[in-house]
Amino acid sequence: MLAEPRGFCAGVEKAIKALAWMVRIFEPPVYCYHEIVHNRYVVEQFRAQGVIFVDDVAEVPEGAPLMLSAHGSAPEVVAAARARGVVVDAVCPLVTKVHHELKVRSEKGYTVLYVGHAGHEEAVGTMAVAPAAVRLIETDADVDALDSLAAAGTPVALLAQTTLSHDEWRHLMERAKARFPELWMPNRSDLCFATTNRQAALKHAARSADAVVVIGSSNSSNTVALAAVASASGCPRVLRINEAAELPDDLSGTVAVTAGASAPESLVAEVIERLAPKAGVVVDSVTTEDEYFPPPPELRELLRGLAVTLEVLNAPADALDAADPVAGDRSLSAATVLSELATR
Ligand code: SF4
Repeated sequence: MLAEPRGFCAGVEKAIKALAWMVRIFEPPVYCYHEIVHNRYVVEQFRAQGVIFVDDVAEVPEGAPLMLSAHGSAPEVVAAARARGVVVDAVCPLVTKVHHELKVRSEKGYTVLYVGHAGHEEAVGTMAVAPAAVRLIETDADVDALDSLAAAGTPVALLAQTTLSHDEWRHLMERAKARFPELWMPNRSDLCFATTNRQAALKHAARSADAVVVIGSSNSSNTVALAAVASASGCPRVLRINEAAELPDDLSGTVAVTAGASAPESLVAEVIERLAPKAGVVVDSVTTEDEYFPPPPELRELLRGLAVTLEVLNAPADALDAADPVAGDRSLSAATVLSELATR
């Protein structure tokens, strides 16, 4: 039983396509701050194309092309990156929205409780927007430890990492609300549409499954959240795997399959092939997604410059079309881009 939606979200599509453009425009190496998305297969594909992933922009030589990952970066990292040379920021707009919420609330004098996971790139980048105003909340104990804040009577807001499990978020939100009845929250939670839809789809599929297989990397927050959702819905066996080769041989009955937002559909196809279901595949769809995020503005600017150069050089029309970052981008999937890269 294939849960739908699953796999690449609009933010991941945007980031992968943007890094693929960088690989095509520049001589290697292209640098990327943090894994472009948290998926081992995707990262290895780009490594094979000469992309070097770094955890400190100081490791990037002056002037070398640099991409910032989809998870969003701390303001000081963005500034340091821009000071070094060519930078394209592939941050997902839904992460940028949380950065903005934190900035605005902190400027209004709020203390902001941020529900997230310590050390995850998105949480690190977001909290760096207003470090003095933000408190990380991971557990009940973190909420309970806010005595002095409750006594101080300053306004309190609640924000979240976009990829949490809904159950985890709701539990901590309710606990925080009980502690701070005047708590400010955005009209809709910060958990993004892709997180919400993939969890809803898996919850539905898991109800009638004997086992659930979640495809994705262990450092992918939304993947880990999917595995938690499947366990919480009572499925007796939940497996998180990177690839088909990790599947055990003893799976039987109905197996529900999903993939985290950074896991490509090619991995899903390999898992289905390995499972070889005797009764075929049923797609269990709870909704459709048509969200689309256009290429980062810095990339559009770079490609516009390239197009002008090609025009001056009297390049043929197809070369000019190839350098247009927007035309056709919506209908071009990151999966296609990845498979084309692999054959370069
Ligand atoms: Fe953006 Fe959500 Fe995808 Fe993260 S999971 S890249 S926040 S759409």
